[in-house]
This record gives sequence, C-alpha cells and structure tokens, in this order.
Amino acid sequence: MLVVGNGRLVTQNKEIPFIENGAVAIEDGKIVDYGNTKDILEKYKKSEYIDAKDKVIMPGLINTHGHIYSAFARGMNLDGPTSKDFLDILNNLWWRLDKNLSLEDIKYSAYSTLMDSLKYGVTTFFDHHASPNAIEGSLFTIGKVAEELGIRTSLCYEVSDRDGERALIEGIKENVDYIKHCKESNSNMKSGMFGMHASFTLSDRSLEKCAKATDGLDCGYHIHVAEGLADEEKCIKEHQMRVVERLNKFNILGEKTIAVHCIHADDNEQDIILKTGTTVVHNPESNMGNAVGVSPAIKLIEKGITVGLGTDGYTSDMFESMKVANIIHKHHLKDPSVAWGETPMMLFKNNRKIAEKHFDGTFGIIEKGAVGDVIVVDYNPLTPMNGINYNSHILFGMMGKSVDTTIVNGNVLVKDGKPLNVNEDEILAESRMVCSKLWNRI
Ligand SMILES: [Zn+2]
Repeated sequence: MLVVGNGRLVTQNKEIPFIENGAVAIEDGKIVDYGNTKDILEKYKKSEYIDAKDKVIMPGLINTHGHIYSAFARGMNLDGPTSKDFLDILNNLWWRLDKNLSLEDIKYSAYSTLMDSLKYGVTTFFDHHASPNAIEGSLFTIGKVAEELGIRTSLCYEVSDRDGERALIEGIKENVDYIKHCKESNSNMKSGMFGMHASFTLSDRSLEKCAKATDGLDCGYHIHVAEGLADEEKCIKEHQMRVVERLNKFNILGEKTIAVHCIHADDNEQDIILKTGTTVVHNPESNMGNAVGVSPAIKLIEKGITVGLGTDGYTSDMFESMKVANIIHKHHLKDPSVAWGETPMMLFKNNRKIAEKHFDGTFGIIEKGAVGDVIVVDYNPLTPMNGINYNSHILFGMMGKSVDTTIVNGNVLVKDGKPLNVNEDEILAESRMVCSKLWNRI
C-alpha cells in the first residue's frame, strides 16, 4: 500500500473535486481510497508514505497524440530549401529524418521522449511512429523502453505509400504483430492501434489492404486527418470526395479511431465524425508551428464530438499544450469568453475517455477503483484554491517542469523531478551520441 498525502488534492471527480489537505491510497495498481490526510493515514497505518508537503496531488496526465522520434529533430541543421508550406515541412524535415532512423535511434528517442513525458507528469502516451527503413521491430523497440521506464503506451506504425510496396507491407505487419502482442499480454500498460499516415499518402488499394489486415482485431485506427489543406484538395481531385468521406467509405472511422487534427473537415465531415463516434485529437502548438490553420475544436465539441488534446511531438508538456489550446481559440474567434471550459474538458475529460477505449480501467481521475496514476506538482497558490477554481490554477500556475513525483499503476517512477528506473544523465549522453550519428547520415 502506498499513500500520497499532505497535499492539495485535485481529483477531477465531480463528487469531491478538491480536498485542502488530501491523500490518496494506492494498492495493486489501483486507487483504493482518498480523503483527508489524517483519516487516510490512520486507516492505512503500515503503508509506504510520500509526503507531498503542501504541493498539489492530481491524476496523471494523458497525451493522446505524439511522435516519439521527433525528439531527434531538436537542433537539427536544416540546410535544404526553405519550407513554404506543410508539404515542404514534411519533405524537408520529417520525412528526411524518419527515413534515416535505425532501431538504435528509435530506442534512444523513446528513452528521451518517454523520460521527459514522465518527468512532466504524463502517465499514458499515444504514439504515432514512422521509420520506413527500420520498420520491423520498431514498435517492439519502443514498447520495451516504455516497459523499462514504466509508462503506459498505445503504439502504432504510420502506414503509407510514400516508401513503396515493401514499406507498406512491413508497416501493416508491424501494426498487426504489435496489436496481437498487446492483446496476448493482457496488460493495461500497453495497447496497439493500427496507424496510418494520412489519406493523401494512401491509395484506395492500400486503404483496402489496411482495412482487411485489421479484420477481427478491434483495434481502431490512428490517422492524421485534414491537417493541411492539401490533404483535402488531393482527395477531392483524385477521389471526388473529401477526406472524412473517403475514410468512412473504407470503414476506417469508428468509436476506437483517433482522427488527428481535422482542421479542414467541413460541416458534413464533422457530422460523419460525430455519427461514427470517432474521436478527434487537437494539437494547437503543432498546428500553429506548421501554419496549417486553426482547428475547429470548439465547434466540434459543441456538436458533441469527443476532442482530446495531444502534443504532436511539438513538446512533451501537456500543461504547455493546455495553455496554447486556451488562447488560440480566443485569438482566432476574437472572443475572450471561449475555451475556458473546453480546454480542461479536452485534457482531463476527453483524453480520459480516449484512454478508456484502449486500456482496461478508469483513467485520469482520483476515485476508488481508478488506475493508480497520480502526480505531485510543486505549486503553491498565491490566491485561494478550491473545488471551483482548481482548473484556473492548473492553467495559469503549472508547467511540466513543476512536476515533482509521477506514479504509474502504483509504481513511483519519478521522485524529486528525477526518473528512478534509469540513469537520466547516462541516457541523455547516449542519446546525444546516437543522434549525432543520425544527423551525419542525413
Ligand atoms: Zn502527428
């Protein structure tokens, strides 16, 4: 039994949202109790105890879309042509990088990104991976690192036509093998989805192959949808329909599918997303950085679509993503009243719903029976904090680097801001060495 107590407890649980001096008791990977520190300590006298020392205790964060390998783009010299649009960015940066990835690069980018994620309070991470010249074993390599670090992951390989038939077939196989491996392991720490890059890099024949390969797997697809305008334009020109209509034709949409971005999805496409129960993931910083436009996230939520929040590899810090999600829609819609409710909804309610579609258990909440994913954040409020205003304190007062302790499935993985399962300095030194070899190959 582990008790984390003596902190301001934010539960994200409507019944008791906030306890001024609260504690959580975790046993066998699950939250078994929570309440006032004094009561909990009295009830569970013999437990291991973490004293939060007035910091904030809250549920672990969930990142519903990232690209682990993107870690190795940090500081990379882009001496090629200047990127003028999103397709240029893919060609000049991401596809140059991912084509050169080896299994060793994948391993160390996984250490770096997942270690950062844990340090920033992320306990569940949904990755979308690509390495066209090192496909076989790529998801298993990331999965092994995740297991060593103790973080929960949903992994997939982004299948596309851009590297020819060999890569298409290998990508499909890697997805299927990993999905089956996760199902057989019967663990709530790992899950596989079927990854696809985007409509504009997949022919009808390839979409058919993907749909056929997933027959009976009940895994859901993880795909970029209408991120850049070119995705829609190419679809209309070549297939006389829009992206969401095309994916629906091939039965790619559904309750377990994550449609990432959906920036250019029109009204009819939004209705199809709603009707099929497909979830959308919003990545505000990435969208701004790629200059692809502003997501209609607020409108999608109004329609009743589940919109989660991700980072798309731009950062590993969900607090940062939350801050940008809060301001981008106010700025874009010229309305300071929007996004106050939608932003915490995306991060705390909808990411939770998405996680629960892919893992067994109750996530992102402190209540009896929920998974033991808890973080302690070093935040001392300068104004009163209570059960009504805690999300404002999170939004304006916290950042990834404020996270002090991260607990996943009842295991303490980060303490005093330091990962416990691995030697951080050694991993970073090795990462820099592996990355420098990679950059020399590009
Ligand atoms: Zn992405």
